[in-house]
Amino acid sequence: MIIPIRCFSCGRLVAHIYKPYLELIEKGESAEDAFKELGIERFCCKRMIVSHVDLIDELLKFPRLQ
Ligand SMILES: [Zn+2]
Repeated sequence: MIIPIRCFSCGRLVAHIYKPYLELIEKGESAEDAFKELGIERFCCKRMIVSHVDLIDELLKFPRLQ
């Protein structure tokens, strides 16, 4: 859905990292280098970003159930 604001395990803010991360990946950087540049060190925070599937744009196509 939407990227969670904080890491589920350690509580670090990760939502603001997601867009810059995608831009770095699109430029051709490896995920490891992108995380280094963005200052993400713990693997619990890395999994928040790597495992995220952005579905919000898909769901917005459907009307609300009411
Ligand atoms: Zn974490």
